[in-house]
Amino acid sequence: MTKIKYYYNEESCSYEPVKIPLKIKLFRITGYLFLAGIIASSSLFGYYKSNPTPKEDMLISNREKLNIQWGILKQEIMLINENIADLQLDDHELREILELSDLPAEIRDAGIGGDNQITNLKSQNLKFEEQIVNSYQKISKLKAQLKIEGLSLDTIAKYAAARDKFWAHIPAIQPVDHKDLRRFSPIYGMRLNPVLGKWMLHRGLDFMGERGVPIYATGDGVIQLAQMTYGGFGNLIIIDHGYGYQSRYAHLSRIQAFNVKKGDIVKRGQVIGYMGSTGRSAGIHLHYEVLKDKAHVNPIGFFQLELETEAYHKLLLLAKENTAPLD
Ligand SMILES: [Zn+2]
Repeated sequence: MTKIKYYYNEESCSYEPVKIPLKIKLFRITGYLFLAGIIASSSLFGYYKSNPTPKEDMLISNREKLNIQWGILKQEIMLINENIADLQLDDHELREILELSDLPAEIRDAGIGGDNQITNLKSQNLKFEEQIVNSYQKISKLKAQLKIEGLSLDTIAKYAAARDKFWAHIPAIQPVDHKDLRRFSPIYGMRLNPVLGKWMLHRGLDFMGERGVPIYATGDGVIQLAQMTYGGFGNLIIIDHGYGYQSRYAHLSRIQAFNVKKGDIVKRGQVIGYMGSTGRSAGIHLHYEVLKDKAHVNPIGFFQLELETEAYHKLLLLAKENTAPLD
């Protein structure tokens, strides 16, 4: 039984690649059904042809041929059954991964449909009627199951694409490359403001580095603001990521702050500006904030899971130094 792994591709920031193998399976099973149909038809043809013949030896010979063909047909049906069961399992697992509700068993199973071929066969009063009808009923059911699986996989693919889009927009990476990171302040919350000397909320994380190091968009979105501000943040970029998410990048460089302008569409990992110390800042750093539905949240909850091992250890090490924010 083929198991399909569903994984998160860090380069494209998306879940991949379940569609192709499943489509191949569908294609393969459709081929089997076609083959089974040909065998059934040729068996029937042989039977019609031979039934009216009066010679007994011819009948016996034809009967033997039919038996062999029925044997092949039964094997084919078994094989298709196994393949559809595999497909159903993949479907079930994908739905679990994507937190989609499972298909009800009665729908997935597909009842025996009133196939025209079966009705016609029943009226022929053939000697092999029962076997023929049984086989056609099985094929008819398999065709129905396959159709249901096809529709179900289309639904899953559409849902997965919507999830991909959602994940691409979440501010989920570190805004400063770990190679450019000199110090890091994990302090989020109340602390003594280094410029004003008062206890104040620090509602972001501070990344310290050299002046001019690149700052990266942490998720796909639209630049909402990229300009000098006077509220303490200095040169500031705000990205609207949609889905209620916003990220803010403050104290950007005085000389070259912005690589983007208001209204630009940006992708995760795109350079949007450069580190500096403009505004109310006690040193060169990036003050980084994430908001969800207009409320501040601690950004570390978003990007720490996306870090590679080396970057994660470096961040831990820098965080242990317990560097105070530079605001
Ligand atoms: Zn700060």
